[in-house]
Amino acid sequence: MTTRLFLSPTPPRQEREEASKSIATSIKHDAYLPRQVPEDLPAAQADGRRVLVDRFGRIARDLRVSLTDRCNLRCTYCMPAEGLEWLPTEQTLDDAEVLRLIRIAVVKLGIRQIRFTGGEPLLRKNLKDIIAGTATLLTDEGEKVRIALTTNGLGLDKKIAGLKEAGLDRVNISLDTIDAQRYISLTRRDRLFGVLSSIDAAVSAGLHPVKINAVVMPGVNEVDIVPLAEYCLSKGAQLRFIEQMPLGPREQWKRGDMVTAQEILDRLGTQFDLTPAKEPRGAAPAALWNAVDKTNPEIAGKLGIIASVTHPFCGDCDRSRLTTDGTIRNCLFSRTETPLRDAMREGASDDELADLWAGAMWEKKPGHGIDDEGFLQPDRPMSAIGG
Ligand code: SAM
Ligand code: SF4
Repeated sequence: MTTRLFLSPTPPRQEREEASKSIATSIKHDAYLPRQVPEDLPAAQADGRRVLVDRFGRIARDLRVSLTDRCNLRCTYCMPAEGLEWLPTEQTLDDAEVLRLIRIAVVKLGIRQIRFTGGEPLLRKNLKDIIAGTATLLTDEGEKVRIALTTNGLGLDKKIAGLKEAGLDRVNISLDTIDAQRYISLTRRDRLFGVLSSIDAAVSAGLHPVKINAVVMPGVNEVDIVPLAEYCLSKGAQLRFIEQMPLGPREQWKRGDMVTAQEILDRLGTQFDLTPAKEPRGAAPAALWNAVDKTNPEIAGKLGIIASVTHPFCGDCDRSRLTTDGTIRNCLFSRTETPLRDAMREGASDDELADLWAGAMWEKKPGHGIDDEGFLQPDRPMSAIGG
């Protein structure tokens, strides 16, 4: 078997600082820059533990695990009506393989949070067992690994109690409109009621804060911005608006046409008094705002805006991604991937897999490059990467 080994993924501090300085002159947006290069990056330790660090000093603590590329909705910005060519089952990781790679990530590579996603992760048959297996792992800080789920919500109301019992801590539910007709044309399915019922179930289950993700598209659901915000605030859920990214059907996204974070804020400002929230943002993608309804002050709470395109937060990114066919991606927009599945099936040891993973993360670029001349969308669609 051939594996590429990266025995020393943590370079000397001087090399890291020089790498950071060199990108400062070659990129346009300072939000791409790491906020700080850690003072004392731990090198590989005697017990084999290390961290997933890249050449700009960012450390990955958050792993997105895609459990399937399949989905029961067909959101227009994500998939064509007929679906995609799904990965054959034999090419996807089985439960034991997923759990092995998660264990390596947590126990050997310093990952502290796992977010299950897809495709639609609730379609994964043994999701509850995978969560339960993950929940047994302790992080390098000696705490239970935090477990989150990003889902379209369909069927979550029936499963939430079991998933929580298995160890699920947080849930993000996607909802781009609360208008029944627009929901049908946006997702090509008549399932709005099921999602709303799952939001209620998640709030009642106490998975606080229940986060709602809404992608805003020009001429499609800008009119939903205020009604969605009122709905989520009145439910005690935290709505986050996401700028649409070039990750769906190729002809669809145009930089000049997208609805920007500023436009979303402007619309919200017509109905809400908004003040920036005080909490430090850290590696979180959403900038949070305190919102109070101007006509009914009882409707109040936090709203988030994820300005992935107009104010990228790549400099603070702490994510690594594992696709359902066992490939490591160091960025949503990466055009290269590091497959672990075949190495694993050919007998690679945990340390060899950890080396491959560390090497993949070391190569992470400073930013997603959406604004760069010659930017190319990744070949994999969002649903096969894991959003
Ligand atoms: N099926 C689950 C869901 O919809 O939540 C999980 C997978 S989905 C790919 C994850 C998130 O990515 C969703 O919140 C979805 O709205 C978002 N998403 C999909 N395509 C996107 C795009 N082109 N730009 C921004 N967000 C996108
Ligand atoms: Fe499915 Fe999520 Fe993509 Fe919608 S955004 S089609 S729910 S994977």
